[in-house]
Amino acid sequence: MLSGILSKESCAGCRFCCSFRRASLWEVPVFTKENTEAIRKNPKLDETVLIPLSENADYARYDLSSHYQTDDSEEEAKCPYLSETGCVLSKEEKPWDCSIWPLRVMRKEDGELVIALTPTCPAINKLEFETVRQYVNENLREELLDYALKHPLLVKEYRVDFPIIDP
Ligand code: SF4
Ligand code: SF4
Repeated sequence: MLSGILSKESCAGCRFCCSFRRASLWEVPVFTKENTEAIRKNPKLDETVLIPLSENADYARYDLSSHYQTDDSEEEAKCPYLSETGCVLSKEEKPWDCSIWPLRVMRKEDGELVIALTPTCPAINKLEFETVRQYVNENLREELLDYALKHPLLVKEYRVDFPIIDP
């Protein structure tokens, strides 16, 4: 989604956003019904890793909690859809969380939705924050907030270390 300012080359060899420490499991992407149906139709993909959300069975996610081999808090468990060459999912199969990364739509305590930036993405951190802010406001803000309003279960709770991209 940020392809206008973030090139594929800048992600080469990183894959940071496709594996998760225990403390980051809240970031595991949520799949919509459309994503899950597209995955189910693709014989090359295993849809059995997806577990319906208790809040609404139209949405699903995978559970990595048993994938850790050690007690090391830095150990990362990788997404089941990550291959040696990157994500195996098509646009229709890929969750919104991944499509908009490193952006996040988050909900503050008072219910306000904000667009924020994941602070740990090395590529985005090389850009001026103002460049990202301008790009998001000119190209993405309306679309992101509209989609988030239609899919509230995709919205993450706000965390203070995520810089907010003001309008
Ligand atoms: S964390 Fe950032 S740099 Fe790394 S793969 Fe994801 S988007 Fe690219
Ligand atoms: S679905 Fe694809 S982009 Fe998303 S975390 Fe998994 S491998 Fe990465």
